Amino acid sequence: MSVMLKPVKPQLDEPEAIGQGLSDEEVRLRREEDGFNELQEEKRKSAGAVFIDQFKDFLVIILNIAAVISAFLGEVESSIVILSVVLLNAALGTIQHVKAEKSLNSLKAMAAPSANVLRNGKVVQIPSREVVTGDILIINAGDYICADARILESHSLLINESSLTGESVPVEKNAEFVSGEHVALGDRKDMAFSGSFVTSGRGKAVVTAIGMDTEIGKIADLLEHAKEKSTPLQERLDQFGKALAIGITVICVIVFGLDVIRGRELSDSFMFAVSLAVAAIPEALSSIVTIVLAFGTQKMAKENAIIRKLHAVESLGNISVICSDKTGTLTQNKMTVQLFYTDGQMLGHDQLQPGNKHHEKLLRMALLCNDALTADGQEIGDPTEVALVHIGKQYGFDEQAERELNPRVGEIPFDSRRKLMSTIHRIGHKQVMVTKGATDVLIPRISRIELAGGVQAISLHQIESIRQASHSFADGGLRVLALAYKEVLPTLPGAAQEEGLTFLGLIAMMDPPREETEQAVADCIHAGIKPVMITGDHKITAIAIAGQIGILKDPSEAVEGKDIEKLSDEELKAQIDRISVYARVSPEHKIRIVRAWQEKGNVVAMTGDGVNDAPALKQADIGVAMGMAGTEVAKDASSMVLTDDNFSTIVKAISNGRSMYNNIKNAIQFLLSGNAGAIFVVIYASLFALPVPFLPAHLLFINLLTDSLPAIAIGLEPHSKKVMKEKPRDKDEGLFSKRDVMQITTEGLLIAAVTIIAFQYGLSAGGPADATTMAFATLCLARLFHGFNCRSKDSIFRLGLFTNIACWTAFLIGVILLNLVLTFGLFEAAALDKVQLYIIYGLAFVPFVVIQTWKLIFVKS
Ligand code: ATP
Repeated sequence: MSVMLKPVKPQLDEPEAIGQGLSDEEVRLRREEDGFNELQEEKRKSAGAVFIDQFKDFLVIILNIAAVISAFLGEVESSIVILSVVLLNAALGTIQHVKAEKSLNSLKAMAAPSANVLRNGKVVQIPSREVVTGDILIINAGDYICADARILESHSLLINESSLTGESVPVEKNAEFVSGEHVALGDRKDMAFSGSFVTSGRGKAVVTAIGMDTEIGKIADLLEHAKEKSTPLQERLDQFGKALAIGITVICVIVFGLDVIRGRELSDSFMFAVSLAVAAIPEALSSIVTIVLAFGTQKMAKENAIIRKLHAVESLGNISVICSDKTGTLTQNKMTVQLFYTDGQMLGHDQLQPGNKHHEKLLRMALLCNDALTADGQEIGDPTEVALVHIGKQYGFDEQAERELNPRVGEIPFDSRRKLMSTIHRIGHKQVMVTKGATDVLIPRISRIELAGGVQAISLHQIESIRQASHSFADGGLRVLALAYKEVLPTLPGAAQEEGLTFLGLIAMMDPPREETEQAVADCIHAGIKPVMITGDHKITAIAIAGQIGILKDPSEAVEGKDIEKLSDEELKAQIDRISVYARVSPEHKIRIVRAWQEKGNVVAMTGDGVNDAPALKQADIGVAMGMAGTEVAKDASSMVLTDDNFSTIVKAISNGRSMYNNIKNAIQFLLSGNAGAIFVVIYASLFALPVPFLPAHLLFINLLTDSLPAIAIGLEPHSKKVMKEKPRDKDEGLFSKRDVMQITTEGLLIAAVTIIAFQYGLSAGGPADATTMAFATLCLARLFHGFNCRSKDSIFRLGLFTNIACWTAFLIGVILLNLVLTFGLFEAAALDKVQLYIIYGLAFVPFVVIQTWKLIFVKS
């Protein structure tokens, strides 16, 4: 695609505005004029449309048909009750839908993209939507460009514009390039466009257009807005609902047919069929899943895990492998310099000698080839570089002063693939390139060595000594940086190559594991999840740290990126189980590691922060991006974002995911076992030619009111630590196992048995009206008591009677509602005497006692 553009002038009023960025007042004025920097999204569904959607549900359609036929048969009251309940249900459904959507949107806002801009002379991070024209963007590798902007400054700046031009090769951007009048978008090398992202390098740019005025805004209507799909669970429930509806229809027709053949009156036969349909339909099912997911994701957000894609919540419980970055996720990302190696000597961090020119040069060069800085007493930047600034300070060197004295005239930024960084400085009359990076990458580029006595050609023996020193540092779990330099021709600084360098020294720094990591790793292993460390660091450093935190038992479990390059996909797959640590890995290796695990049937979580991690994050079943150190591109590719970048947060999220799944399943079992109870009673009455045991209104009252509150309470059952003692759930496992179906049926039979006893008693002692009322009240109460049974597999006495107060609240509200119906004779309820009430309460309590006793005896705690 080529779009012709007119050159755009930066809308800056005064030149000094670039130096300081915009002031708050200017921002306010520009915002008033142009609004926020956002693309107009597709219109959200109105509440009315959501309300109408509720009637498209197959089960609701059956109910409506039942209401219409009831009316025809003269059962106007039943018909009105069914219709009003359907309306109430649709209203509740709409409220829940709108609320759940709101809660999801607020989560999304927490993970919304941000931008670094210069304002009031300071670099600040702001949400992308707050960017205005004239803002100075500070852009770094991994950033999304959130507005169209003219490049003011660029250092090896490569930008991927595939979302605009379809071209996936990144384009080099250059501040010095001036494009002519009519240049295709892809050739505007002096512009960065909204929707593109920085693959490497850094720079500054002034915003020229925002929101719908940007190039991407102009073609925004061509963009597909990613819609939140239903989660696998919701899909399975939908399918289940459809199968259920067909099953119900078939059974209803059979029951109706049998009744008619046996000579029952048509209207009676029909009321049986309607009762059966109403009894079987779990009206509250789908809204309960939505509510539990909404509550659960909010809880997870409070615990630092933001779910970006709802299906991730379910997959969390299936995770069997976590591939985690080392630096910052397993470790604290707080580097401190521990040791030096220079002039053939190993020295402690406090053993450099002030006044020693050679030692001072090592420190000062470490400050020059460095982007970290101190501002307002705070050290800002990459922790590796911050550590260098910090140690410099301890020896009395100020990074700003050094950088002013030896200004930077060129640079090749750090790249985790090259594992090197170089800067070129004007030092006196000379131009000097300073290079720092991983020892093994730097050594082949070195030809000379600087010792206290001067510079000389490096010998094989000296190289070996450097290697050994680096090795022994890494053995202690330290990160090692090698430092070297060379003089370059002032005329050709841009063509400087990182070779023929003079070795200056090694600097080793410590990044201790996070305190919680060891326990989290142990929890993972306990829960049948394999933790795997992936790092750009040296293999020996990785082995030391992985050993400390329990990821690795034997050094043979560690390999390097270059080792897996030699393996075919098949070979990697064959070995994958025994590899716990991958060192010197490039982002490209990560995707192969994920695939190999997946091909072995595993569900994989993979962490990532860099722009190059995006493909692996997408490939993983759950891509986990770092909220603090992660790039916008990584966040965008992920399904979960950690706001604290902490490995233990992933483990906590898995525990939450497992619990949420269990809770939802328990709530569904509760609803279905209660419905099964009602169905059995209706079938029993039909088979034995008894009167209709329930009115449709009774069943709707139970299904929608007294059953939905306990179901929500079960869905919100406090999470138990026990979930992390089980193996991960198999990803192909259906919603219900045979055992679950047996359990639902048995519980249904128990509830049906006591209801039938109450019904029969009512028939013999009073008559059909008493019998129906007693059956309804017993069914309703038994199901309320049953709510406590479904809190967990375990007995409520082991869980603690009062550990889920919501369950008690739901129970009490249910009992009160039932008593209101009985007291005021609503839904044709007959007035019952005391004995009848005692019988109802006594019978309804029986399934609870039986199930709890069974759990106490047979379920191991
Ligand atoms: P992880 O994947 O665990 O997060 P990492 O991100 O720490 O690993 P990199 O940042 O890619 O890995 O670092 C790899 C190597 O590159 C380090 O061992 C170090 O030698 C070198 N290195 C790291 N940061 C810098 C830097 N700012 N300048 C120069 N070299 C660096």
